[in-house]
Amino acid sequence: MINVPFSVWMERPSALTHGIIERSFSHIERLTDVRIPRNYVNSEDSLLKSAYSPSRKQTDVSTLWQNLQKSFWDGRTYQLGVLETDMYGPGTNFVYAATIKKVWPNGMLVSDKFATGSIFSVYRLKNYYDANWQEPFLLTLIHEEGHFFGLPTSSNLDYIKENDPRANSGLDFGHCDNRLCSMEQIDIPNRLSAMNKAKYIFQKNPSLFCNTDLEALKNNARKLFE
Ligand SMILES: [Zn+2]
Ligand SMILES: [Zn+2]
Repeated sequence: MINVPFSVWMERPSALTHGIIERSFSHIERLTDVRIPRNYVNSEDSLLKSAYSPSRKQTDVSTLWQNLQKSFWDGRTYQLGVLETDMYGPGTNFVYAATIKKVWPNGMLVSDKFATGSIFSVYRLKNYYDANWQEPFLLTLIHEEGHFFGLPTSSNLDYIKENDPRANSGLDFGHCDNRLCSMEQIDIPNRLSAMNKAKYIFQKNPSLFCNTDLEALKNNARKLFE
């Protein structure tokens, strides 16, 4: 299917968060020359509640994605959700975001029968960076939207493969080795923090992607949107 809209929801709706989400979509639209349809909807609080762990005081994002897959996935929207609560994934203390890609790094599309999209938590960014959380959040949005669209492309020489000698940790796998690209991993040894990466890339590279990933983004976005 083409031109499937995003359902965008915020656990605590705010004009500020809404504005940053819009900046991320507009950036991708400008780069790719496609229009990405999106509807702002209410969050499904029962789904959020059943994925929340009171003992950890965090949302389990893998449970949340499972709930989204089975509870109301109808194949007609992509997800973009923003939580205020802290979030974790399997084997992690916390995660900023978790994306189920719509395009694989080789450019093939994921079947429409799976719920796809990105879920974010702004909890850590707000805690680490206080009033300055907005730029790292914008970078995180762009990074995850890049994953959704199949970035970094596996045809990129900077693509970090499994067991790649350039990998600084397992978390580098599936990311881009280029410092000028949003698809570089952050917050692991030898990579920048979310804040330093945002400062660096917003100053040095207006497109926010390396050339190879930018070309793949254009190609892949045009497979999904006109
Ligand atoms: Zn990533
Ligand atoms: Zn790249």
